[in-house]
Order: sequence, then structure tokens, then C-alpha cells
Amino acid sequence: MKFLLYLNPIARLGTKQYSVVFPATVTLICIALLEIWAYGVVRDPNAVGLLAIAIFVILIIYFSFRDGIRGGLTTAALTIIYYFYIIYSRRYTGEQLTSGVITTLILGFVYFSLSGIIGWLRQTIDSLIEREANEKRRFLAIMQQLPVGVIVTDNKGTIEFANKNAEVILGTKIPLGFTVGNKFFVKVLESKPSPPSQSILAKTLSLGKPITHEEFVIEKRYGKKAYIEANASPIRNSRGEIIAAAEILSDVTPQKELELRKDDFINMASHELKTPLTSMKLYLTVLKKQLANHTEAKSQKILASIIYQTDRLQDLVSDLLDVSRLETGKLSFTKELLPIDTLIKDTIEELQSSIDGKTINFTSSGSLQVHADKFRLYQVLTNLITNAAKYSPNKGTIIVQLKKQKDAAVVSVQDFGIGIAKEDQKKIFDRLYQASSATVKTYPGLGMGLYISREIIKRHKGRIWVESSLGKGSTFYFSLPLHTKQSQ
Ligand code: ADP
Repeated sequence: MKFLLYLNPIARLGTKQYSVVFPATVTLICIALLEIWAYGVVRDPNAVGLLAIAIFVILIIYFSFRDGIRGGLTTAALTIIYYFYIIYSRRYTGEQLTSGVITTLILGFVYFSLSGIIGWLRQTIDSLIEREANEKRRFLAIMQQLPVGVIVTDNKGTIEFANKNAEVILGTKIPLGFTVGNKFFVKVLESKPSPPSQSILAKTLSLGKPITHEEFVIEKRYGKKAYIEANASPIRNSRGEIIAAAEILSDVTPQKELELRKDDFINMASHELKTPLTSMKLYLTVLKKQLANHTEAKSQKILASIIYQTDRLQDLVSDLLDVSRLETGKLSFTKELLPIDTLIKDTIEELQSSIDGKTINFTSSGSLQVHADKFRLYQVLTNLITNAAKYSPNKGTIIVQLKKQKDAAVVSVQDFGIGIAKEDQKKIFDRLYQASSATVKTYPGLGMGLYISREIIKRHKGRIWVESSLGKGSTFYFSLPLHTKQSQ
């Protein structure tokens, strides 16, 4: 078997070990056999003619492909010497000698060209194979050094490569040759956004598009939980056909644990703060009543200030509680059918007195009914309008509009204040995010309002977004599905 592989020129592609001895030996053996056959078997020295051409053409092609230019040239040179030997040993004279020499010279030219071209072809293929192998070596070395886990499959989802980090992150050996699908080689406890019905690599292959930021929780050895973030993408060839898929894994356990601790803290702190604050507010109300007729105006003002600040503290604590309830899925909604235009009007009326120096204009395209939690919608509107006032340092107008767009009610709150930088616009709806430019530092806040608003709108099957340009102002929009007979 090994000997056959040694003879097979295709099996030797890419080796670059070209022999001269082997082609020379085989050619000489063939010459010897041909001579023995001519003199010993058929006893006609001139019988070698066509056979000598056929055999050696095959040998030259074979050795040029097997051993490159040098191998082909060796066989070609020995063949031509043999042809001259035939002319000499068969004692050609006259015309036979001339045509013999001319034919040999022509054949010599053909043989050398043949071995040159085929040999060059072979050597080029070898160089290409070597270049590709080097490329692969480089790729593998980079993959092994990456701080993330990488798993690569072919287009059928069979795992072909995994780096060391993928094994460390998943805490198990990755079975090369395993076909990904709806079976897993790790114990998946949960996954976001969808339950783990299919591996992310199988999903990216079947959808033919990248999948980003999937999170899953796995159980490692000794019952240890690990939080993994995964991204996967199909790999296509120049014709756009999928040839493979790659998955990048990151272990986000430390960040997740910190987040969980933060959630626990927010939950605990908001509950702990709520009770004393409620009592404080109660005592302050009693005190206000008792001192109503006895105290001088200055003390009355101080008391009013304390009550106002206590209200603000209560609002903050209530926001903290909402954030905590949202995280644990415990924020409940009592939905009812309500005219959103009336709700907006009432909210503006209530806020107008507390927002001094600014006028709130409201335009509406009529009465629109939505199925929503009144208090939570009021909370969203209050947050958007107070933000519009807070982030517009100069006196000015806040424009609130209600429009009907297809099957949705769209509310917009526009201000002409400081505006929001493009890079911050996506993040301001994230939990505890505040745009971090120096000017914004001067506005108090904890970055909870927009997060709560987004979650409330999301739970009403609506959408919230912002259009803004720095220094010119912002318009916040939210849309809610309109209540129709069918949606009942
Ligand atoms: P807070 O106002 O308490 O900081 P929010 O969640 O309501 O928290 O807002 C998040 C961030 O979005 C704010 O810190 C502010 O940077 C930005 N922002 C919100 N509304 C506006 C607005 N109308 N104009 C400019 N920036 C705004």
C-alpha cells in the first residue's frame, strides 16, 4: 500500500520532495528491458521504433508530474541519449541516418518542452498547496491565541475546529465530527432570547445570516453555572454559497454575577428605603397641619421644601422599585380601555404648574382609544415631559402631539434643549444609563426613567424611540396599538 502511495503522483502533491534518482533508475530499467525484448525476444533490433516513443512519452509525462521539472528532464535526457544509441547501434546510414537524427532532435524538443510545462505545473500546484497550508497554520495559531472561544463547522454543521478557549469556556472537550443541531454536547439550562431548541451554529446555517448576542446558561462540572454570550455567522465562498459557520463564545459569568449582585442591592435598598420614607412623609403631613397657624412664613417655607424633597426621594425610590420589579418580571399591569388624548391633557395640566418657565403645547388629531395601564402610561408621559423640561435650560416650549398612524397612536414630546449625541441615542433607554457629556453632569438623575418607560411601552406591545440633534433639541416618540373591535 505504501509503495502504491509512493508511485501515485497525486498522493504526493504538495510534498516538494522531487527525486532524480527514481526517474533515472526507472528510465534505465525500461531502456534495458526494451533492448532485451528487441534482441532476445523478437530478435529484431529495429522493432523498438514506435514502442520506444510510446513508452518514453508516458514516462516523461509521469515523471514530470511526479518529480517536477528535474524529474521530467532527467527522463527526457536519458530517452534522447537512448535514441542516439539506437541510431548508432543499428548502424543507420544515408537517408535513414539523416531522418533518424532529425526525428530525434524534434522529439528531444517536444520531450523537453513537455517535461518543462508539466513539471512547472506540478511545482506551481505544490507552491499553492504550501501557501494554503501556511495560511491555515497562521489561522490556527491566531485562533488558539484568541481570548474568546471559537468553534467552526462545515456547511452541514459538523464541528471541524475548536480552539482551546472554547473548551475552557464550555468546560468540556469539544467533540470534533459532532453534528450540531437540536442536541447539545453541554448541559444548557437556559438561553436568551429563545429557549435552547437548536444550537446557534445550526440556527445560523439554516437562516443563512449572522446571529448576535445570544446568551445561555450552562452547567459545568460540579454543578457550576456559567453565563455564555455567543455570536455566530455563516461563512460564504466567492459565489455566496455557505461553506462553513463560525461561533464566537465569551464567558460573561463575572459580569453577570456582578449584575445579579447589583439587582439584589437595588431590590434590597429600595425596599429598605421605602418604609422609613413613607413614615417620614406621614409625619411631615401631620406636622404641616399642626404648624399651619403657629409658625412664621420662613419656617413654613422650610417645611414645604422638606416635603418637596421628600416627594422627590419617594419618586426616586419608587423608580428604583420599578427597575427591580422589571428585572424580576414582577411589575404588574392593570390594563383598561382609555382615551389617550384625555390622559395626556390631564397629565400636562398636572405638570404645567411644577414646570415653571416653560409652556407645554398639546395638539391632537382626535380621541384615540388604547388598552393600557393608566398609571403606567401617566408615568411614561411624566418622564418624557419632565425630561424635556429638565434638559432645556432656557425658557421655551415643549410640544406634545398625538397622531393616528395606521393602527397605532403615536405620541411625541419635543423640546428645544441640549439634544442627545448620536452615539448616546441608542443607549439612553438602557438601565442606569446617562449620556456622559460634561454638560449632562450638571443635570441630576439616575438614568432610570427612560429604561422604565421603554419597558412599560414594550409590555403594551408598543415602541419608543428618539430623534435628536445635539444643541438643537430632542423629540421622543412612543406608539401604542390602537384599540379596535378585532383586538378585543
Ligand atoms: P435621568 O433623566 O434620570 O438621568 P432618564 O432615563 O430619564 O434618566 O434619561 C437618561 C438620559 O437620557 C439622561 O441622563 C439624559 O442624558 C438623556 N435624556 C433624556 N431625555 C432627554 C432630553 N429630552 N434631552 C436631552 N437628553 C435627554
